[in-house]
Amino acid sequence: MTPPLDGVTDTLGRPLRDLRISVTDRCNFRCTYCMPKEVFGRGYEFLPRPLLLTFEEITRLSRIFIAHGVEKIRITGGEPLLRRDLEVLVGQLAALDGLKDLTLTTNGALLARKARALRDAGLQRITVSLDSLDDSVFNEMNDVDFPVGRVLEGIDAAAAAGLAPIKINMVVRRGVNDDHVLDMARHFHGTPCVLRFIEFMDVGTTNGWKLDDVVPAAELVARIDRELPLEPADPNYRGEVARRYRYRDGGGEIGVIASVTQPFCGDCSRARLSAEGVLYTCLFGTSGHGLREPLRDGRADEAIFDFVKEVWTARTDRYSELRTAETVALPKVEMSHIGG
Ligand code: SAM
Repeated sequence: MTPPLDGVTDTLGRPLRDLRISVTDRCNFRCTYCMPKEVFGRGYEFLPRPLLLTFEEITRLSRIFIAHGVEKIRITGGEPLLRRDLEVLVGQLAALDGLKDLTLTTNGALLARKARALRDAGLQRITVSLDSLDDSVFNEMNDVDFPVGRVLEGIDAAAAAGLAPIKINMVVRRGVNDDHVLDMARHFHGTPCVLRFIEFMDVGTTNGWKLDDVVPAAELVARIDRELPLEPADPNYRGEVARRYRYRDGGGEIGVIASVTQPFCGDCSRARLSAEGVLYTCLFGTSGHGLREPLRDGRADEAIFDFVKEVWTARTDRYSELRTAETVALPKVEMSHIGG
């Protein structure tokens, strides 16, 4: 394996530090803003198993990326906990030299059952998506009648297993769940969970995104601050996606991910790998670069990284900074394909 090359940067000087790996394009939710039933219904053809990267292929690729500067890996999907024996992959990744941070994003539906095995396999922390504490609103959003209580059980199981910190992601959509922001803030205030509000984004092409549906993060912070006073906190590290705010009474912190109103492309060091091994250099990408064939045709690690390097050094993406009515209509990859 070649020694780390510190110099892999894109055309805007951004290094390659984070890798988000989707392990499946399937999900057990049909969130209306992500996998609407009209598109992802019974007839939808998900990836057949032979096209998915195996755990060994994912681990090999991860090792190659880490050798060239990646420090953080997030496992995502689809719903990653649907991938059978996921803890085996977690164990393989956790054992990689040089990986500083390994985490996973889940809708929490299977977490109560899986938390302990994931922790034992070496997962350090976890992010759970939860859009409301109100069953009727949550059901309307997940569109499979999944109860809030079972996600909360998953969060409790993750805490009991020692996964920390636990981050809770709430996608806020005006007129759908924005009235529930304060309930969520009150619920997680004073707990070790870090609640993060995500502006509804125009990812993919199926979610009917409109700018009017976006509640600007500044508005959310102001609403919470009126009841639970907040103060800005410094980023934990350069390129952190969430802006942090601390409760003035010591009740913990929240984050806002304002990719629409306050884009953070300038610091974006994230590459994304779909479950079938396609590398994307932007969440809003319209096309990617296949790594499955190079992995399967016997190429050496160095040759695979040369290809990745070529892709990364040519990277110009800064979609959120350039968003216009025209870009919103582009045929972008679905979020369920490349994960969050
Ligand atoms: N199934 C897992 C989950 O629910 O966390 C992982 C994949 S999911 C695509 C990752 C995150 O993306 C979730 O927090 C989800 O709410 C968020 N997400 C999906 N579509 C979005 C959109 N249009 N705007 C903002 N966030 C979105």
